Amino acid sequence: MKNRKLPFILTLLFTVNIIAQTTIPEVEQLLQKMTLDEKIGQLNLPGAGDVVTGEAKSSDIAKKIEAGMVGGLLNVKSVEKIKEIQKIAVEKSRLKIPLLFGLDVIHGYETTFPIPLGLSTSWDMELIEKTARMAANEASADGINWTFSPMVDISRDPRWGRVSEGSGEDAYLGSERAKAMVHGYQGDDLTKKNTILSCVKHFALYGASEAGRDYNTVDMSRIRMYNEYLPPYKAAIDAGVGSVMASFNEIDGIPATGNKWLLTDLLRKQWNFNGFVVSDYTGVNEMIAHGMGDLQTTAALALNAGLDMDMIGEGFLTTVKKSVQEGKISIDQIDNAVRRILKAKIDLGLFEDPYKYCDINRAKTEIFTEENRRFAREVASQSMVLLKNESQLLPLKKEGTIALIGPLANTKENMAGTWSVATIQNRSVSLLDGLKTVAGDKVKIIYAKGSNLTYDAELEKRATMFGKELHRDNRTDKELLKEALKIASKADVIVAAIGESAEFSGESSSRTNIEIPKAQKDLLKALLKTGKPVVLVLFTGRPLVLKEESEIVPAILNVWFAGSEAGLAISDVLFGDVNPSGKLSATFPQNVGQIPIFYSHKNTGRPLGNTEGKFQKFTSNYIDVRNEPLYPFGYGLSYTSFNYDDLKLSSEVMTEKDTIEVSVNVTNSGNYNGKEVVQLYIRDIIGSVTRPVRELKGFQKIALNKGEAKTVTFSITLEDLKFYNYDLDFVAEPGRFEVFIGTNSDATLKATFELK
Ligand code: BGC
Repeated sequence: MKNRKLPFILTLLFTVNIIAQTTIPEVEQLLQKMTLDEKIGQLNLPGAGDVVTGEAKSSDIAKKIEAGMVGGLLNVKSVEKIKEIQKIAVEKSRLKIPLLFGLDVIHGYETTFPIPLGLSTSWDMELIEKTARMAANEASADGINWTFSPMVDISRDPRWGRVSEGSGEDAYLGSERAKAMVHGYQGDDLTKKNTILSCVKHFALYGASEAGRDYNTVDMSRIRMYNEYLPPYKAAIDAGVGSVMASFNEIDGIPATGNKWLLTDLLRKQWNFNGFVVSDYTGVNEMIAHGMGDLQTTAALALNAGLDMDMIGEGFLTTVKKSVQEGKISIDQIDNAVRRILKAKIDLGLFEDPYKYCDINRAKTEIFTEENRRFAREVASQSMVLLKNESQLLPLKKEGTIALIGPLANTKENMAGTWSVATIQNRSVSLLDGLKTVAGDKVKIIYAKGSNLTYDAELEKRATMFGKELHRDNRTDKELLKEALKIASKADVIVAAIGESAEFSGESSSRTNIEIPKAQKDLLKALLKTGKPVVLVLFTGRPLVLKEESEIVPAILNVWFAGSEAGLAISDVLFGDVNPSGKLSATFPQNVGQIPIFYSHKNTGRPLGNTEGKFQKFTSNYIDVRNEPLYPFGYGLSYTSFNYDDLKLSSEVMTEKDTIEVSVNVTNSGNYNGKEVVQLYIRDIIGSVTRPVRELKGFQKIALNKGEAKTVTFSITLEDLKFYNYDLDFVAEPGRFEVFIGTNSDATLKATFELK
């Protein structure tokens, strides 16, 4: 008996040891002074309510802070307010522990960059890192020390509204952006005044909700999780992210918020994460509806699973003490959670200077500056994806008359996109204003709204929340169209600004029909009927079904929601001051029935193969529509053209110890200077488990002047060939590999090598 118990005890000790923090003397001293209530208080993250500057001390939240019942606060904006509240914590509470101030700084602060999906289509990691750096700079100048970003949930279902917040469908691209964002926010030294704590979310698999319905069930094999969905979270952890947010969904039947395998075994034991884990908004309480028990039960489940901080719901605050008394939660478990929160505060330098983020002068001089806005304009133009450009309709000439028509043309509020809580909406630049500024005085810009967002006024209300009004026009649809056609008749070219409104995507904005709303489709068709050239400037927070438009509209520029300088950046691209270089990070389907659709699928036992556009009975296909997407992952045009040739490998054999260099020659063969994202894909032909038909393993964004050629070289290492096998070991298996390089995931230039 004794002998059998020993390994168990050793495992236990080992586990405790792995999971416990490296001891920090200040933390241990503080822990010893803390009452159980004060410890539980550190794990509590309430919202600020409506605290008013100058009156914070008489608010309800102030009383809780004074009593040591709060570890941090959510959603307070303004340095004055934050300073006042911090003062209560460090002057009035018994132990004077400073507070964390968290906010969703998702794609910029007041200076706003494109929505994350748009940032990812820039494929420019240096630029992305700089956006996070600038966001941290502005947020920290305004008192914020913690951002709930990056969101790195892989999603292959554009019905899900939150695809707008991530990097699309791919684990490799998603991991690269995850690293860039964490580095940008946290820098290399969290004690600096302008670096803030980052929080990777939503851990885990939130983007795989069934039917693309938000908060819905997720069910996934471990092998898919490890290979396709978990890498971006792990990349953020490896980049040193200080905190993790648990997701709303369940994993293997247990909500992430209370899932011990996820929050302890995987996150802490396998990945060695030593920061803290926060729930998502009322995540602990929501486990009641999931069917996991009452609040005391779900709070204990969460804490015992490894959740450290409870956002909003106060399940910890109100039940954990009782659970301790009843022996359902150990003091050790609580101490470990408290240690992690205190460590974050120490890492941020808050104990040394609780007001380090409260420099009112910085708030006045470092937010929404001209310089920041210039940078936002540059970033925005890099995010746009040219989907179609028949007969080189774009770029537009800076002369003649342009009719700008559509419900998205004259709105400042919709430019920043979803999750732009710190943005001052009406300071963003509308497309109408942007065009007028960039066009110069030889162009006449005339405007009409043309239609409302949707025929359905109630749906429009739901899609224009949080101040992102589209000012629904009460004239009849016919009257709106008549006016638009009159304006169009006076123009040389029509720019149709249509698509989704900002809140048509984002949290709790899933759609079953992801086409352009009918009202706008009808408008577009009427504009095309005039026979004038029409450029579709497409606003969207997700891949849309554009089958019809791709057939009838000559030019389509996808601009996502490009941030506070959107109108200027779109105009820069329309007039060719900037040549578009964005590439899709998520596949655009031909129709909703193809979803989930992504380039790195498996081959199956009955692949359709390329049968020259034919259908093939008894292969893996549909009877009505071919398998190909409308626009593949990695796709995006330029005003110029790029030729690829001369793909070479440094060797046709690779051993475990060496690397292979693969090079390709890229030539700008068109008439404009431009940028190209050169993409490298690898296929592992035979494996111990089935492997995807190809996977992105490298990319480089290069600039080429017209006529210029460059040799682009990638190194393929053993790491690039590794995957999680059936036993979830990360291995590279000997055998043959195919390498593809090209302009998108359909790349056909190919070479082969063998791993010995
Ligand atoms: C969202 C999170 C967000 C949190 C705090 C939740 O509803 O899912 O992404 O960080 O609210 O605002």
